[in-house]
Amino acid sequence: MDHERIGPYNIIRKIGSGGMGTVYLGSHEETGNEAAVKVLPSSMSREAGFVHRFTREISVLSEVSNPHIVRLLDSGVDNEIYYYAMEYVDGETLTQRLRREKRLAWADVIEVSLQICTALKAAHDAGIVHRDLKPGNLLITKDGQIKLADFGVAQVFAGSKLTVTGGIVGTAEFMSPEQAKGQRATKQSDLYSLGAVMYVMLTGRPPFVGRTTLDLIHKHQYGQFDRPRTIVPDIPSWLDDIVCQLLSKNPDDRFPDAFVVSRQLQTVMKKVILSQDAPTIDSSNQQSEAMGATVTTGPDAQGVGPTLMRDLVRAEIERPDARHPLATALDNTWVLVAALAAIIIGGYFWFASRATAPEQMFEAGVELLQEPEGAAWLKAKDEYFLPLQENHASEWKDRITPYLEQIAAYEFRRQLTRRRGNSMEDGDAAYEPMRLLKMAIEYRSLGDLTRARQTLNALVVLLESNTEYEPISQLVTRELRTLDGHKQTTAFVQSMLDNAAQYQQQGQTERARDIWRSLVTVYGADTLLTEQIDRARQLLRSTQPATETSPPAS
Ligand code: ADP
Ligand code: MG
Repeated sequence: MDHERIGPYNIIRKIGSGGMGTVYLGSHEETGNEAAVKVLPSSMSREAGFVHRFTREISVLSEVSNPHIVRLLDSGVDNEIYYYAMEYVDGETLTQRLRREKRLAWADVIEVSLQICTALKAAHDAGIVHRDLKPGNLLITKDGQIKLADFGVAQVFAGSKLTVTGGIVGTAEFMSPEQAKGQRATKQSDLYSLGAVMYVMLTGRPPFVGRTTLDLIHKHQYGQFDRPRTIVPDIPSWLDDIVCQLLSKNPDDRFPDAFVVSRQLQTVMKKVILSQDAPTIDSSNQQSEAMGATVTTGPDAQGVGPTLMRDLVRAEIERPDARHPLATALDNTWVLVAALAAIIIGGYFWFASRATAPEQMFEAGVELLQEPEGAAWLKAKDEYFLPLQENHASEWKDRITPYLEQIAAYEFRRQLTRRRGNSMEDGDAAYEPMRLLKMAIEYRSLGDLTRARQTLNALVVLLESNTEYEPISQLVTRELRTLDGHKQTTAFVQSMLDNAAQYQQQGQTERARDIWRSLVTVYGADTLLTEQIDRARQLLRSTQPATETSPPAS
């Protein structure tokens, strides 16, 4: 059955049809604006409850607005035919792209997934679950932007006889196990589908294939899939882990939300660049293409990422016979240290500069909390979280509160270490644990990490059985976590010092000096690393710069 006109839209041509209707390109009779008009099967509208669901869902949908979500323009009923009009996306679907390219480079998969995360986050925040995230609903514009279509529409069909009898559901390949069981979809279900979509982008095939829908539904619930890396070995293991975690059978084992997923995805990029076994650019064409994609189109391209690395990679790609191959650069520890510094500093400025809209303010605050506790945390509170709370209390309260609590705990702890002794009554039951906690913090600030950890661990055990001490317990756990993070930094700095010592022994003094100088620059203000950094300073003083023509004055 073909239409010439639906509602106010003159139909130009049919675009395609899927599980839940047919999509036409139309133009609005008055404005002439193009729209994709989706016509629902007429059998649907006769079902009990359909009209109610349709009206309710559509009204919710029209309130979401995000650059990565296909905008809903209009909806209505014309001669018993239900339709809705949405933004027309001139481009192709992910299904079409995959059919052509089979699979995408992992860096491109991250890029696409980050955009999907943005869309999911915006919708989830508005209380809308997509329920049918799949390549056919991911539209790609001519300039490579991703737009997610048919948000929440599956809900209109939920409970429909047609859904149940199976005919109407296009594919179950991206459906979460809980949906397969017939349970209600939650935002966690969308995260599962995201995992399945990432899987197909990375490997060219969905995590599960089945001959029938029932077969597929069974596999989503009980089947085990092959890890993407076993199919395509050059996928970074961190990315492999993220996809597998998204595909957890138990919704609680997936990530808490799309925002966390996007953070994790961004970290993969950083880890790849910093890791010793990062793909060396000159070893194979495919890998250099992957890095090229990372570097020119990745999220880091706007300035978060290590500019230095980016320029090096670009130079390498543009001039294959360049004098300094990137492979050598990657072997140079100094470059890695500089890249690390660039990420930290670049990331900070990037976030600081885009902090305007509520969403961005929130992100900027969260980002500041990644830094060591201190001025940055207070800044996060004063400049981002408190203003957000003041201006948008109702929408943001739930998300800001945990962070504000974390900062409050820090401020409390800081007061504790400043105050010398006597403001707490000696008779107070909390007095002793607090004293021990304070002691641990003092040990830490003196650099005695072993004793700090011993004290804290003892406190954990002592306070465990008593709920009365819960707030103190939380402080203790947080302290321990800080110590653990610090352990990694110490180990990293130590390994850099060892590298430098080796260079020095081999007579490559300038290289060694580069490392010491970088360490002093990056960690000079870190009181917990005083010993190691002093050593670097001392070595810098006691060695001669290679380029110096006359000896220094002193
Ligand atoms: P499915 O999502 O199951 O593929 P749909 O009925 O939602 O089926 O869509 C059918 C086809 O119409 C899609 O595969 C896509 O090519 C096209 N399409 C859907 N929405 C739009 C849109 N907003 N802009 C352009 N094309 C669209
Ligand atoms: Mg669709």
